[in-house]
Amino acid sequence: MKIDLHTHSKIGSGCGKQSVSQIVEAAIGNGMDAVCLTDHNEMSGREAADEASRKWDFPVFTGMEVSVREGHILAFGPLLEEGYGDEGLKYSEFRRIIDLESFALIPAHPFRGGAPKVNIVEVIMRYFSEFAALEAYSFNMTDKDSENTIHLARLVGLPLVAGSDSHAPERPAGSYFTALARNVNTVSELVNALRAGDFEAGAPLYAAAELQE
Ligand SMILES: [Zn+2]
Ligand SMILES: [Zn+2]
Repeated sequence: MKIDLHTHSKIGSGCGKQSVSQIVEAAIGNGMDAVCLTDHNEMSGREAADEASRKWDFPVFTGMEVSVREGHILAFGPLLEEGYGDEGLKYSEFRRIIDLESFALIPAHPFRGGAPKVNIVEVIMRYFSEFAALEAYSFNMTDKDSENTIHLARLVGLPLVAGSDSHAPERPAGSYFTALARNVNTVSELVNALRAGDFEAGAPLYAAAELQE
């Protein structure tokens, strides 16, 4: 099952320039089997996601891209209250106020724009056992960012995911995807699949192969 794990709508993301319907249409057009809405520190797009899911008869899950002080973490799991990002919580604080076991957490773009985000790398090195994967490919990562992420993932033994990080129709949802080994119908099934490592990043895997040499 192909899923784009990382998209933004204008409902929940100030920087989002697309409706949930536009996200779903793009995801379907790009051959996805499911899509996940991950607005910044909000799940206010949830109703629109459920509506679009019914309208298109297509799985539309809602997660959250949480801004911890060190960087961005994609969180899939139970409903999260808003405002984590506004509080400027450190990851060490965020992890204490959620039920870690019921979430799949994936650091988004650990490297972005070529520059190492030292703080989030430190978080990944320290808490890697709490993460389901690292996001290695998206519209917002360069080839070098992906390479750096692949190296880091290998170092800590984490698998890779890809997600579009789509904010607008010009960089459409479904352009990057993660291939799940099994179909999932609910967020908790998605969490289980991610925590079990039952997936592969569906983006340019040649990059990983080259690095192995
Ligand atoms: Zn982000
Ligand atoms: Zn994002």
